[in-house]
Amino acid sequence: MIDQARIDTLRAAPVADGLNLIGGHRVAAASGATLDTISPIDGTVLARIAASAAQDVDRAVAAARKAFDSWSDMAPMARGRILQRIGDAIAADAGTLAVLGVRDNGTEIAMAYKAEPMSAAATFRYYGELCGKDYGQIAPTAPGALGLVHHEPVGVVGAIVPWNFPLMIAAWKVAAALAAGNTVVLKPAEVASLSLLRLGDMAQEAGLPAGVLNIVTGTGAAAGDALARHMDVDVLAFTGSGPVGRKLLKASAQSNLKRVYLELGGKSPCVVFADADLPAAAKAVAGGIFRDSGQVCIAAARVMVERSVHAEFVTLLVQAAEAMRVGDPLDLSTQAGAIASEVQMHKILTACRDAEAAGADLRTGGRQIHTDTGGYYISPTIFDNAPQNSALVQEEIFGPVLAAQPFDTEDQAVAMANGTSYGLAAGVFTRDVSRAHRMVGRLRAGVVHVNTYGGADITVPLGGHGQSGNGHDKSPHALDKFRNLKTAWIAL
Ligand code: NAD
Repeated sequence: MIDQARIDTLRAAPVADGLNLIGGHRVAAASGATLDTISPIDGTVLARIAASAAQDVDRAVAAARKAFDSWSDMAPMARGRILQRIGDAIAADAGTLAVLGVRDNGTEIAMAYKAEPMSAAATFRYYGELCGKDYGQIAPTAPGALGLVHHEPVGVVGAIVPWNFPLMIAAWKVAAALAAGNTVVLKPAEVASLSLLRLGDMAQEAGLPAGVLNIVTGTGAAAGDALARHMDVDVLAFTGSGPVGRKLLKASAQSNLKRVYLELGGKSPCVVFADADLPAAAKAVAGGIFRDSGQVCIAAARVMVERSVHAEFVTLLVQAAEAMRVGDPLDLSTQAGAIASEVQMHKILTACRDAEAAGADLRTGGRQIHTDTGGYYISPTIFDNAPQNSALVQEEIFGPVLAAQPFDTEDQAVAMANGTSYGLAAGVFTRDVSRAHRMVGRLRAGVVHVNTYGGADITVPLGGHGQSGNGHDKSPHALDKFRNLKTAWIAL
């Protein structure tokens, strides 16, 4: 773990302007254009990054294509050793990476250190290890023929990632794609590119050949769209919002029909039954929505509570919300840091006003705090009696806003929990083991947590049901996105 003295040293370190990584070289955007990176901690400019456009993406894709043959021909275990060295390098420099990332996106450091560099390190090591363990298959054909099922890399993978956990999410895509023998063009979010640019340097230093990983920064509308429409990108792996996911599917349809994998948003429900350990459940739900100020794809944004304990449980939640230490994300004791950008902060505050207008009862929070810092902070917010058809219940806010609702029966709780277009994550709190198993089956979600919320490691898949996306990150299943199956049919 990192200590406060080291954080305080690192927080004052100058940050170099970011350049693209293309074919092993650091280069500015061809136009020379740049974007300012604003720190949400205090609203100041941290650095400038390249504002890339189509021609920069063209160069990056060409570099990735050029590097593909030798990378995909390399012995899998040799590829794996390089990935493991990248994981080791990330772990060795975790403090620097974590503080740089927090200065860029505002996640509280205690969470960021584990969820960003340490998780990315584990991911590179995991997929590095898998490289020598990924077997093809022999099909159970009728006699007279041998059917072999080979795994082949797809070619060039485009990866577009969001700002909330850039290192963790990019590692899920990049490490799996590289392990499967592909080369990659990565487009970080314009709000949080700096730690990923540093990752690019580390990958080169760890021996990743030039062009195998290319990083192009810039806006979604320019750099992201160019990658999505590129005729020489074979697979697009995306994490971000639903509206952008739809644009990517359209871009694929209008270009080369590249496969598009979407990890999108959610409005994840927790269902709390009267027999649950209520104080423990309240702690888990509050942590599930308020950590990282709710900017977590699986944030526990809704809670349904059995009516007989509803009032008591909401009171426990309000107490937990009001006890949370929200503030300077580079203080190790902070439990919820900044909102990543001013735009996002105003979206959240507008959603709170709309929720009140729709008839939900504001129990705590709902306002900007620490305005004297120049940064972007919102108090943990709880609405009770949220109308099921309101935007508060139906739409992702991506902020520290919890919607509570009472329920009377298990069937009703399931209908309410499943009654949105999303299906990313859910939680169930009960001491009844039969009901817990039943609820895992009944809730529409890619992951259901029981008597906890938000735990996971690299060994289990994460992916959405419904409009929360398709495909999975993490675990050996993630490799499927990045490879083609090829059958060899051999007459015997
Ligand atoms: P976003 O969709 O606005 O942006 C994500 C990325 O897409 C960024 O790199 C952005 O530059 C790029 N982009 C934007 N417009 C584009 C376009 N027209 N073409 C190509 N690329 C474009 O999302 P965000 O605000 O950065 O992140 C928040 C969203 O991400 C939330 O909806 C959240 O739930 C989701 N998310 C999902 C997961 C998951 O695993 N399911 C994880 C984290 C975040």
